Amino acid sequence: MRVLKFGGTSVGSVENMIQVKDIINDQEKKIVVLSAMSGTTNALVTISEYIKTRDTAKASARIDALEVSYVHTIQSLFTNEEVLYDVQEYVQDIFYYLRATTAKTYDQFIYNTVVSYGELLSTYIFSAYLRQEGIKVQLLPALDFMRIDRNNEPDNFYIRQNIHRIIDELPAANIYITQGFICLDVDGEVSNLQRGGSDYTATIIGAAIRAEEVQIWTDIDGFHNNDPRFVDTTTPISNLSFDEAAELAYFGAKILHPQTVMPVRELDIPVRLKNTMAPTSHGTLITNKVHGEGIKAIAAKDGITAIKIKSGRMLLAHGFLKKVFEIFERYETAIDMITTSEIAVSLTIDDATHLVPIVEELERFSFVEVDQQQSIVCLVGNSIIYHHQTHKLFQILQDVPIRMISYGGSHNNISLLIHSDHKVATLQRLHTYLFDNVTA
Ligand code: ASP
Ligand code: MG
Repeated sequence: MRVLKFGGTSVGSVENMIQVKDIINDQEKKIVVLSAMSGTTNALVTISEYIKTRDTAKASARIDALEVSYVHTIQSLFTNEEVLYDVQEYVQDIFYYLRATTAKTYDQFIYNTVVSYGELLSTYIFSAYLRQEGIKVQLLPALDFMRIDRNNEPDNFYIRQNIHRIIDELPAANIYITQGFICLDVDGEVSNLQRGGSDYTATIIGAAIRAEEVQIWTDIDGFHNNDPRFVDTTTPISNLSFDEAAELAYFGAKILHPQTVMPVRELDIPVRLKNTMAPTSHGTLITNKVHGEGIKAIAAKDGITAIKIKSGRMLLAHGFLKKVFEIFERYETAIDMITTSEIAVSLTIDDATHLVPIVEELERFSFVEVDQQQSIVCLVGNSIIYHHQTHKLFQILQDVPIRMISYGGSHNNISLLIHSDHKVATLQRLHTYLFDNVTA
């Protein structure tokens, strides 16, 4: 069985839903994972922020506007009165619950509840639409099988057991629709897999059912070799290894949730990225095979904080790094890049939630400098550190002030840390010389 995930734009308009229906409506049995319709989760996040700041009037206005857009969508999608009536009732109920939350005191549970409505709406609407079109479809409620454990990792045993049980119990269907992103936490409360988490849902399910393939359908034809928002001449990459895809997703390529390939890489289940608007284009196939050599793609991740830790005493005297790492571990803050010299160590984090206490603790035994608004530019490709083109990189970047370089941590990755102001120029310059075949 295949698992197909469709992103927000794929279910974001009536035309696109029709397109998705045509893509999935063959005779093959499949699980279809849906995101919320585009814009919905952002709207829900804004609403939950208004609840937090007790801005009830603004929350209500935003809820009203969102409801109007749903009413329009379902009116143009449903021709069958009975189905329309059923969906209208469901949508009204969701908006009733959403309004009810605005009177409550904000906490994490309110946030998780509010943001869960997007996927509940999209899956209900889309499966009703398929039913209207005479397609045999069943809704698989994600909250009946998708659960994370104490460490916020998928509870694979639970998921596997329950998804099989539920599919067996449901009447036969070709298409099983489920919500991406949402899950239960270890206490059985509604939670989620973080923003963009529907991709991750798809591969978690793919692993649980040992799918033959997981397909992620978006509005672009796969991973591009640079960020299409900043560079005009990007091209899609046909093949990536799991490692390359993981590095690209982690270091900024927005197309995929960073953890997406983790559940399936060990099981060697291929992940195919496809474009809903151009279903015949190849997209990107991610497998354990390595293709080509040299720099294959460039991506950038913003919002990075660089921390330089200088020690009066011998920095690398044993135990120093351990002390540093222990502080980050205590605050559950992941370190992305790290470089050391004899007197200082520089590292980067992307989650600055605990920056203040981390710096306070570091300052007990060192001098600390913090630089915010940094970006990591990541270059990915098989064995790039050995490739004869790679040296060009340093010529190209001679006028960009590079704050840190990570080279050799893996054979597939070189990461540069720069101030975010230089990001666009760096991406463009690298692209011109590395992919447009201009000599430096
Ligand atoms: N709807 C969620 C979000 O916008 C999850 C997803 O789209 O993957 O983050
Ligand atoms: Mg996404």
